[in-house]
Amino acid sequence: MTAPTTLKAPSPTSPVFAVPVWPVPTVPVAGEASVFPVRRIYCVGRNYAAHAREMGADPTREDPFFFAKPADAIVADGAALSYPPATKNLHHEFELVVALKSGGAAVPVEKALGLVYGYAAGLDMTRRDLQNAAKAAGKPWDMGKGFDRSAPCSAIVPASRIGHPAKGLIQLKVNGTVKQKGDLADLIWNVAETISFLSGLVELAAGDLIYTGTPDGVGPVQAGDLLEGHIEGVADLKVRYAR
Ligand code: MN
Repeated sequence: MTAPTTLKAPSPTSPVFAVPVWPVPTVPVAGEASVFPVRRIYCVGRNYAAHAREMGADPTREDPFFFAKPADAIVADGAALSYPPATKNLHHEFELVVALKSGGAAVPVEKALGLVYGYAAGLDMTRRDLQNAAKAAGKPWDMGKGFDRSAPCSAIVPASRIGHPAKGLIQLKVNGTVKQKGDLADLIWNVAETISFLSGLVELAAGDLIYTGTPDGVGPVQAGDLLEGHIEGVADLKVRYAR
């Protein structure tokens, strides 16, 4: 018989868990021995304008909207993935990922970047057929977005090393062909605004990741495809779907 899993007791009141405890999902920190523990994964819906955003306020832009993936949907850079079940239309969405070192509620825009630990390159993999069916039926998107291994993510590069990237190429190649190409400057809601807005909906905390949305050019992924993403000044990400 297997003994029940327990954690090293930090105090006499430490719980004994009724079922085995899963490992905390983590993402490597680039160039360091430490790893980033993932608490929650938030994603922003459509967040790139086709044209460069003009300076100043834009009264026509809609509020950002958010969805989530399970923390253990994280997949490491370089992974070999299986084509997921229940879909015939898996799509790539290549995105800048923000990693938080601290949190809060109702964080003002001017303080939002103070919460950022670092940045990474991520893929918001999407079962587009399930998402579209859910949209059409007015049902939740969760099974189109929050499935197993739906969140590939590069190592996180600390902001202490690269600052807070506000512009730069964001590009995804599939089998060597450029499929998505944009610029971080084209984010409709920038990182600070996104953090501030999200913190008005949920309390943020260290360990949270935010996938900030994808530029144009999303499309289908086939078994056997190699996905290679590059975000200028931030990180690269590579994953392959098995044949
Ligand atoms: Mn997305």
